[in-house]
Amino acid sequence: MSDLNPELLWNKQKAYSGTLGSERERFCREYTAEKAQAVKSIEDMQLRETDEKKTSITCEKGCRFSTCCMEYIEATIQECEAIVYYLYNHEEALEKFIQNYPKWRQGVSAGGEVHEEFDKIYKTFLEPQPQAKPSSMRVLAQYDAQYYELHIKYFDQHLMCPFSYNNECLIYDARPFNCACSYSTSPVDLCALSDRMLPPVNRSTPPEDSLDPSFYHGEIRGPRAFFMPLYVYEILVNGYKQISRMTGIVEIEKEALKQRLIYEA
Ligand code: SF4
Ligand code: SF4
Repeated sequence: MSDLNPELLWNKQKAYSGTLGSERERFCREYTAEKAQAVKSIEDMQLRETDEKKTSITCEKGCRFSTCCMEYIEATIQECEAIVYYLYNHEEALEKFIQNYPKWRQGVSAGGEVHEEFDKIYKTFLEPQPQAKPSSMRVLAQYDAQYYELHIKYFDQHLMCPFSYNNECLIYDARPFNCACSYSTSPVDLCALSDRMLPPVNRSTPPEDSLDPSFYHGEIRGPRAFFMPLYVYEILVNGYKQISRMTGIVEIEKEALKQRLIYEA
């Protein structure tokens, strides 16, 4: 763990300290167990559907292309918290992620910080929406098109997810619904690297309650989707300050300050 910077190391040691840390740890444990069941149901459904259609899933562990892991992967703050919890309990995965991260992050910067454009769209959706009428439907369609273009823009950089190691997922048991819901039934060769074309994956629907705003210290007031690897890293480095920013729950940072759970250089 010598590669960890002081903030990251400090936050790891303090992550589940104090009463706030106990709430956080309990939440992460319960969320992880519930999510594992939900993912199992999704996987069973994917198998049933492919069986009915007399096809089969062509994805496999260590897939030689793994281009689906070059897509822009989003997750909720609850999922990000569960991934942080997983990393704190799997040191090898944490170390490899920290090793992979700088190169990947440079690539994201070189590509123009695409997540800032996604974040602007999410913020717009938090504002009161006009009544559904033809003009607002056009606005929504415009967002859909913009959203798709941003996905392509990111994919065209061909940046492998920093959680991928030898084409295997370091956080497989805690991977986002976004990843668990994607599967291919096409010949694997169709997933070879290409420009302006996402890998041919089917996307199952995540459970309805995956966007539930309940959290361990208040209710989420901020956006519901985040660029997963980047925001997981920010939680690792900035701890409760980052969690407070992402959830919009200012009481989290206040409570963490009171309990001396915020890093001071
Ligand atoms: S979607 Fe394509 S690239 Fe991804 S694991 Fe499946 S076959 Fe491999
Ligand atoms: S989290 Fe895992 S499955 Fe998802 S994109 Fe990253 S490496 Fe792939």
